[in-house]
Amino acid sequence: MSDLALTEAERTRILAKSALFDPPTAAMPDGRRDLVGLSREELAAELAAVGEPAFRAKQVWHWIYHQGVTDFARMSSIARPLQQKLAERFVVGRPDAVTVQTSADETRKFLFRFRDGQEAETVYIPDPVEDRGAVCISSQVGCTLSCRFCHTGTQTLVRNLGSAEIVGQFMAARDTYGEWPSPKGETPRLLSTIVLMGMGEPLYNYANVAKAMKIVMDNEGIALSRRRITLSTSGVVPMMDRAGQELGVNLAVSLHAVRDELRDELVPLNRKYPIKEVMAACRRYPTASNARRITFEYVMLKGVNDSEAEARELVRLIAGLPAKVNLIPFNPWPGSAYTPSSMSTVMKFAKIVNDAGFAAPVRQPRGRDILAACGQLRTESRRERARAAE
Ligand code: SAH
Ligand code: SF4
Repeated sequence: MSDLALTEAERTRILAKSALFDPPTAAMPDGRRDLVGLSREELAAELAAVGEPAFRAKQVWHWIYHQGVTDFARMSSIARPLQQKLAERFVVGRPDAVTVQTSADETRKFLFRFRDGQEAETVYIPDPVEDRGAVCISSQVGCTLSCRFCHTGTQTLVRNLGSAEIVGQFMAARDTYGEWPSPKGETPRLLSTIVLMGMGEPLYNYANVAKAMKIVMDNEGIALSRRRITLSTSGVVPMMDRAGQELGVNLAVSLHAVRDELRDELVPLNRKYPIKEVMAACRRYPTASNARRITFEYVMLKGVNDSEAEARELVRLIAGLPAKVNLIPFNPWPGSAYTPSSMSTVMKFAKIVNDAGFAAPVRQPRGRDILAACGQLRTESRRERARAAE
């Protein structure tokens, strides 16, 4: 087989395997269906099935995704008898917020529970300078990939999140800020960016992630530009190409090591898709440009990956790419095998990358006081329930 055919076969295998972990159906216990998370075509089909013309789907879409309305009775462009008919058959759902904690630095962390009781984390991270911020969204409950420094990696995968659950995290976070356009048409500001950097590997749940991102990018709804969405992957090479072509969102790659031997240990997926292949996929990534650089995430682990020689090797690896390097202070969790690099080591590393012409911001540790190491909130919630059940 040619390389291309192999990639296609690998993609088909990943998508088929991923579908095995899909969430339960959209039906509520009372038989009503959730309209959130459906594509425009699917929404039109649901409404057509109850005798409604195509323009109705456009109206309902606007109410759900532009106005953020969850109650059919507030859809004022729809006649009252029809509002009632819709409410008998459908819901506009949201995940339940089990906890909402706001840190001293204004970071807000949510633990959301879905209809089958599974939980995932979402974090709103305000921009320290401008009056806006990013919502960090989960794509799976747990993760299959077991990166050594990642707390989510200690939780074996339970399941993929569905498109409704992925979009729902963003919508429910917006609800808590009252950030939906008023009827006068003001545009929300704070929650204006999405980073797919929460629990899970988004490219191992590609179908649901892609469907959700198409919904948030739709111009008649939430209308986020693809420039305001960043997908972070540990390097699922065949799906990186697909995401670039179909979604065109910004790409972030969790590199964390510059030699295969070490990356095999830190990011075990490297044994399947080694550094060379990951870098080649980055070089092919269609939307990369100086205005939309690829982010390389690099978690700084004391004495493991933080030497000056490694900083120089990193620069060689990304040479010629429109790239920036995000240096992440390691966020320790109980039982983790690593310690964070000292700030002076991080600054030396950053200087080498910077001097080579690449921006190398050091990510500020945010929300330390509310267990911000990804995956920790879910574990705490499970522990508390286990204690309560004893
Ligand atoms: N699975 C995807 C996206 C989720 S992880 C990925 O791996 O890219 C998002 C980012 O958080 C990754 O760069 C990951 O390496 C980083 N991360 C995970 N655990 C961390 C920890 N304990 N401290 C600092 N960064 C961590
Ligand atoms: Fe999964 Fe990303 Fe954590 Fe690795 S770093 S275990 S890919 S969530």
